Amino acid sequence: MCVRSCFQSPRLQWVWRTAFLKHTQRRHQGSHRWTHLGGSTYRAVIFDMGGVLIPSPGRVAAEWEVQNRIPSGTILKALMEGGENGPWMRFMRAEITAEGFLREFGRLCSEMLKTSVPVDSFFSLLTSERVAKQFPVMTEAITQIRAKGLQTAVLSNNFYLPNQKSFLPLDRKQFDVIVESCMEGICKPDPRIYKLCLEQLGLQPSESIFLDDLGTNLKEAARLGIHTIKRQGFAVLPKLVSNSWAQAIYPPYPPKVVRLQVNDPETAVKELEALLGFTLRVGVPNTRPVKKTMEIPKDSLQKYLKDLLGIQTTGPLELLQFDHGQSNPTYYIRLANRDLVLRKKPPGTLLPSAHAIEREFRIMKALANAGVPVPNVLDLCEDSSVIGTPFYVMEYCPGLIYKDPSLPGLEPSHRRAIYTAMNTVLCKIHSVDLQAVGLEDYGKQGDYIPRQVRTWVKQYRASETSTIPAMERLIEWLPLHLPRQQRTTVVHGDFRLDNLVFHPEEPEVLAVLDWELSTLGDPLADVAYSCLAHYLPSSFPVLRGINDCDLTQLGIPAAEEYFRMYCLQMGLPPTENWNFYMAFSFFRVAAILQGVYKRSLTGQASSTYAEQTGKLTEFVSNLAWDFAVKEGFRVFKEMPFTNPLTRSYHTWARPQSQWCPTGSRSYSSVPEASPAHTSRGGLVISPESLSPPVRELYHRLKHFMEQRVYPAEPELQSHQASAARWSPSPLIEDLKVCNCSAPDTGNMELLVRYGTEAQKARWLIPLLEGKARSCFAMTEPQVASSDATNIEASIREEDSFYVINGHKWWITGILDPRCQLCVFMGKTDPHAPRHRQQSVLLVPMDTPGIKIIRPLTVYGLEDAPGGHGEVRFEHVRVPKENMVLGPGRGFEIAQGRLGPGRIHHCMRLIGFSERALALMKARVKSRLAFGKPLVEQGTVLADIAQSRVEIEQARLLVLRAAHLMDLAGNKAAALDIAMIKMVAPSMASRVIDRAIQAFGAAGLSSDYPLAQFFTWARALRFADGPDEVHRATVAKLELKHRI
Ligand SMILES: Cc1cc2nc3c(=O)[nH]c(=O)nc-3n(C[C@H](O)[C@H](O)[C@H](O)COP(=O)(O)OP(=O)(O)OC[C@H]3O[C@@H](n4cnc5c(N)ncnc54)[C@H](O)[C@@H]3O)c2cc1C
Repeated sequence: MCVRSCFQSPRLQWVWRTAFLKHTQRRHQGSHRWTHLGGSTYRAVIFDMGGVLIPSPGRVAAEWEVQNRIPSGTILKALMEGGENGPWMRFMRAEITAEGFLREFGRLCSEMLKTSVPVDSFFSLLTSERVAKQFPVMTEAITQIRAKGLQTAVLSNNFYLPNQKSFLPLDRKQFDVIVESCMEGICKPDPRIYKLCLEQLGLQPSESIFLDDLGTNLKEAARLGIHTIKRQGFAVLPKLVSNSWAQAIYPPYPPKVVRLQVNDPETAVKELEALLGFTLRVGVPNTRPVKKTMEIPKDSLQKYLKDLLGIQTTGPLELLQFDHGQSNPTYYIRLANRDLVLRKKPPGTLLPSAHAIEREFRIMKALANAGVPVPNVLDLCEDSSVIGTPFYVMEYCPGLIYKDPSLPGLEPSHRRAIYTAMNTVLCKIHSVDLQAVGLEDYGKQGDYIPRQVRTWVKQYRASETSTIPAMERLIEWLPLHLPRQQRTTVVHGDFRLDNLVFHPEEPEVLAVLDWELSTLGDPLADVAYSCLAHYLPSSFPVLRGINDCDLTQLGIPAAEEYFRMYCLQMGLPPTENWNFYMAFSFFRVAAILQGVYKRSLTGQASSTYAEQTGKLTEFVSNLAWDFAVKEGFRVFKEMPFTNPLTRSYHTWARPQSQWCPTGSRSYSSVPEASPAHTSRGGLVISPESLSPPVRELYHRLKHFMEQRVYPAEPELQSHQASAARWSPSPLIEDLKVCNCSAPDTGNMELLVRYGTEAQKARWLIPLLEGKARSCFAMTEPQVASSDATNIEASIREEDSFYVINGHKWWITGILDPRCQLCVFMGKTDPHAPRHRQQSVLLVPMDTPGIKIIRPLTVYGLEDAPGGHGEVRFEHVRVPKENMVLGPGRGFEIAQGRLGPGRIHHCMRLIGFSERALALMKARVKSRLAFGKPLVEQGTVLADIAQSRVEIEQARLLVLRAAHLMDLAGNKAAALDIAMIKMVAPSMASRVIDRAIQAFGAAGLSSDYPLAQFFTWARALRFADGPDEVHRATVAKLELKHRI
């Protein structure tokens, strides 16, 4: 016989119990605890455990079944299998061990489902700390019961754990008596176990109240004369009920009626309160004693309230302060059995429009008339002599406020019902007839979002402490994507779950609180705002989120579904641009957080707190930007595309030049304009579809190319071959109008986005004006530079300077005498996290220590006068203010530099390809071989067709990337940018190579531009990062975002 079974022996337990009984009886009699009962005839409250004090096995089973995709009801069916002689009941009586139970139980479940069922994990969940927690409302009630001198007991059908202790996740000190079936060898509803409990309490049945969630257990208790309260529990499928024990396990609810379990402890406590005749609640939730600085004169308030309520005599006025209501202090008042709430302006001088409690009073009064659940407002007192400031009084609305949006402890169906109720009440608010309730002048009509954007941008700027890239992008993006406001309704302005008071038992909103930010506006802003929690993590300190929860499993509707639900209830078409509203809502939160951060810097807050708050702004602004990106994609996807049947053809290549000798036209397929394409935001794929001013620019550029650039090509070519090639050609200086050379455009973008005002003045302006050139120095000969984290050049701090040492190569443009700026990437902290080691410095080219070793050549081409230089940086000292954005931000900058400059290469490559194809067509028409023009050879025709198709494919992709960048920003276009960089250079290489082949040996010579085009195209398979790196990006994004 093992020790455990010895311990479990009923005989020994009786011995122990008798001893205990004597002891407790003595103790109780000695202390006369029941003499302070305040009139109640009851002397003890007996609680069942599972289903009353902690969640029932049925509820845990349901959760586990969902998690493990086990058919609902399996566990309960198996638990009741065999009735009193089934494994569960034998386990409760300790006739089998936990291992034995799990074996039998597992077998039962597996037989039922014809597959193995991991019952061990159900058992682990049932007994886990997370699940097996006493309901706080019960803990509170037990404290109150004991404080009044009554005894408390647990009477539970319970079991032993494998560690030989009984499963009792309760604080034993809360109970005078604990009776467990596994210790006694008998289970409820066996009358002996009740009698045992009463014996130990030393009471008669009529002196106690018994709470259980199972009807059979209660029935037996009632038969014995104990007063009973049913804690309504988890409803299961009654059709499974097949024997008397099943009746005991399952509450007799009809199918589909699910009692909402989380409210049940509350209900039970209320019933208990009624029976006992005293309160079991510690106090008003979310209140605390009034802060010293927030005290209000009680006497004058009491006098005012007596007049208001028309009462003569009152007891003392009880005053507490609510935790919320930072802006407008809010108090709980109890006077003459009336529960009231007072909300006042804060003391001191206030901005005229701030803390407008008069507006709150007005809107609640109006909305109550329209049937919106709001607290019943009683009076607005604008006379500051009463309590020092104006205030208003409303009735206290008791109920539940769910602080945690994951709604812990609720059934999935209840959670869903709560969110549905939230949605419904929002619809109610938004359906109020403004005229009927006299609210037409409660705010401005229309233009709500533009006004809000302006307000929050202003607020943000007023508290800005450093540049937050996402905020900058949003400030640019939001005004460009403002939605057309469809409706003007009452807008709550802070509509969140924790501003709603729910019925304690039903999923019904009793009151919507906190109308401080209410106005008239675009209702969709409220809908989006009420979904913020969906995108925030549960650890988010300001507003607890649910983005790390499995919403399906919890039963909470996803944000998209919540939006759909709203539209359906309102009878609206689906809201397509709700990502805009989410972006705006998060932007607003970010601006608010920035204000908090600024105040924390100037106030008493610790530096750690301030730092943490600062990070929140950045985090939230990135969330906002993610929505902006999504919205960009949506708009992009919905653009009308061109009708491929309507095409016209236009000349691109110069008709007559040595390099394009025939005068025949090359073409690019450009469809005719259609009204749809000229609409705002459409993808333009033909010059005719451009807006009139841009079309004008296009024609000017075309004219300029044909009249000035193509004719100058031979002269430029001879300059490049001359001894003067390292000086800029005067011809180029004369022609220079576009100013879009690499790496100048990328550097300009970098300065625009990240440069300080001083940096912009010194470097950006000359670059934009075409007065200076620049280079970008990242690549190093000794490391694989396609991975920028390998970069080794060091940037070391020395007094007010940074000192650079490093070896770079392939630095395009560094040899150009006009190059004034080197944008240098190096390591400031080799020990920092991998992507925080690099920094970007602006290095003036005349700084001592920059030594150009040699120009490198590409297939023998020097690309003079800019060239591609190998350079040493030896103790190059740069003032600290030349750092861009700050140390460790190099990677971020490199990513942000993904602007239009990065796809100009692709556009140029399409230009080369068009030129190459035009030259090829002209050549094959005029050259005869084997008795006929080359153009009549099938292989040549196939090559021409292939080249045209490849050019068009690449062109469309470039246009799409460019368009997406314009519309949604560079980040949104990351995939398209990577795709086109992967596609364009190799496409151009193939097209140019076919043209060279068609030209014969002449194609390799410098008599035609083909060899040079080919060299550039080949070089661009490295210069802008190797093909493989772009492929890797595409694959990564593909796997991340697409199904
Ligand atoms: C004409 C020209 C102009 C340039 N201008 C500049 C400039 O102005 N400034 C500057 O800093 N740099 C410049 N570069 C350098 C260019 O950016 C680098 O050559 C490029 O980043 C690759 O680095 P790497 O040469 O060190 O090759 P490595 O990093 O050594 O890579 C070698 C090869 O490894 C393979 N590889 C690398 N990564 C992957 C991967 N993820 N998956 C599979 N295979 C991979 C690829 O085949 C790659 O070609 C220029 C280069 C050229 C040719």
